Amino acid sequence: MATACFHLRLCPRFRAFASFSSRPLLATHPRTLPLRRTGPATPLAARTRRGFGSSMAAAPPNEDDDFATAADLRFDQPLKVVQYPDPVLRARNKRINTFDDNLRSLADEMFDVMYKTDGIGLSAPQVGVNVQLMVFNPAGVKGEGEEIVLVNPVVYKFSKRLSVYEEGCLSFPGIYANVLRPDTVEIDAQDASGAKIKVKLSELSARVFQHEFDHLQGILFFDRMTMDVVESIHEQLKNLEDKYEEITGQASPETISNYRGTKDVASFSR
Ligand SMILES: [Zn+2]
Repeated sequence: MATACFHLRLCPRFRAFASFSSRPLLATHPRTLPLRRTGPATPLAARTRRGFGSSMAAAPPNEDDDFATAADLRFDQPLKVVQYPDPVLRARNKRINTFDDNLRSLADEMFDVMYKTDGIGLSAPQVGVNVQLMVFNPAGVKGEGEEIVLVNPVVYKFSKRLSVYEEGCLSFPGIYANVLRPDTVEIDAQDASGAKIKVKLSELSARVFQHEFDHLQGILFFDRMTMDVVESIHEQLKNLEDKYEEITGQASPETISNYRGTKDVASFSR
């Protein structure tokens, strides 16, 4: 984490993560990576030439300025990854304005559980903490790549160019399916110490960021899938709902059988 923060502070403005561009997108854990690419890769230069679409206004993550309290940021060790359809994944995530040791240790613990579960990205709501915090490292291996901690992230520009990648999610174990997303995003955020970051993300880092950013808005990856794709994982989603009902003794808060297609969350105009 220290490395990531150092790099971002060193050159925070529109910095592409150099370690990503020199690294194959799927260098490690091809079988278990939560995010897997499918189809032929578009050369980076081609993507760059296409550039960005016109600037789009970014909505704030929340309507109000209700910041997370110490109680909101409390967490139990070891962290446990929450699985669909736990309602914590749909709850509102508060912005953070306390940048202390507790926040840094939460980020550290999130990296630990992410590596242990062969993930490359994790959002705070996935460990039951409803705040605007994500961690990721596209290398997926401790000590390799670059560890990124982003607090209160906002997207202010999406590329017009979109790609389909096969994604997975630690909250949906064993489920992988295609999701269409912009290739690059330009974002504002803060690091774990509260320093402001302005950065352009591309390749796998853009993909992971957008997946985790959705979690911070209560959006899950199947919300962005086409109906055909959702249908292909319907049974697996239903199994997770059944498992939730068995474990909790409560009715599943949402059911894929009632799913009627992509909602307005599919818009990338934020
Ligand atoms: Zn996820």
